[in-house]
Amino acid sequence: EDTPQDTHIHQLDEDTVARIAAGEVVERPASAVKELVENSLDADADTVDVTVEDGGTELIRVADDGRGMSEADVRAAVREHTTSKIDGLEDLESGVATLGFRGEALHTIGSVSRVTIESRPRDGDAAGGAGTKLVYEGGEVTTVEPTGCPAGTIVEVDDLFYNTPARRKFLKTTATEFAHVNRVVTRYALANPGVAVSLTHDGREIFSTTGQGDLQAAVLSVYGREVASAMIPVEAEGDDLPPGPLESVSGLVSHPETNRSSREYLATYVNGRAVTADAIREGIMGAYGTQLGGDRYPFVTLFLEVPGDAVDVNVHPRKREVRFDDDDAVRRQVDAAVESALLEHGLLRSRAPRG
Ligand code: ADP
Ligand code: MG
Repeated sequence: EDTPQDTHIHQLDEDTVARIAAGEVVERPASAVKELVENSLDADADTVDVTVEDGGTELIRVADDGRGMSEADVRAAVREHTTSKIDGLEDLESGVATLGFRGEALHTIGSVSRVTIESRPRDGDAAGGAGTKLVYEGGEVTTVEPTGCPAGTIVEVDDLFYNTPARRKFLKTTATEFAHVNRVVTRYALANPGVAVSLTHDGREIFSTTGQGDLQAAVLSVYGREVASAMIPVEAEGDDLPPGPLESVSGLVSHPETNRSSREYLATYVNGRAVTADAIREGIMGAYGTQLGGDRYPFVTLFLEVPGDAVDVNVHPRKREVRFDDDDAVRRQVDAAVESALLEHGLLRSRAPRG
């Protein structure tokens, strides 16, 4: 028979566990923006409007005209590990088509903020116009009521980290937090030229894409005319590329003279997901060689395709960094694709062969 022993080790209460877990997923306003924009894109939206105040610390609002949710859907969506996107591990193994699948974003964001969701199913009965408004704060549903709203979904996040002061204190200036938000929304706008994406900060529209154009049009909307006019196409696939895991490399890269002192403008994607990888960046920089001054970076929007089973999407939600089995081959492939585009446009001085 066991006798109870005195111990100073005890189980944490649910609320504490949830808030600690939240810190892993939602590091800063930009991480919440990422999750919400991904949800809108997964819902097949044609329009995604992102509004933030105070770098996103006061307010984040993402409005879409996507599939929308019924009352039962909205209630289910904020519960822990609830998703409509995968059924089980088999779906993960075979490759996930949606951006989300963990079923934790809404639940988690709502445990460290006040979340208001207004949603109406796109294919619901047209007559009523009734949607559902649900308020979820500090991990609890406090309101569910009918509301008049357009088809689609509006998610508002107020006072992020209000109940986790340590994390709130850790946030940087409004300018820095907004820069992160801008980067996230820009990445999705560039990758989805067929979706009208807008970003507004403290009442000022930062950019909006038309949703009608191609990548070139999206670059024009996001970065402006000077940059857009300096972009040249990259298009390499199959035999165009040296051997390696990449099936194709395509997108736009800037003339060497159109550069910045930040890596911020290297927007790179693997199978449609915005990622960063040393191999990709080194491949790009290798192609430009000495055309760029030290610590200068071009504008790049580059899409890499690899076979589905060659990348693991089951990475940590916060991590954008990916690694390939064969980093060297990826570096050579990216280098070759970008270099041939630059050469074709007469934008490279001849250079010594590399190893
Ligand atoms: P995940 O995206 O991993 O499934 P989330 O917590 O982000 O998990 O969302 C939970 C579920 O809520 C989604 O699977 C989806 O069914 C629904 N949902 C969330 N946001 C939207 C949206 N903007 N439009 C339609 N459905 C949504
Ligand atoms: Mg999600």
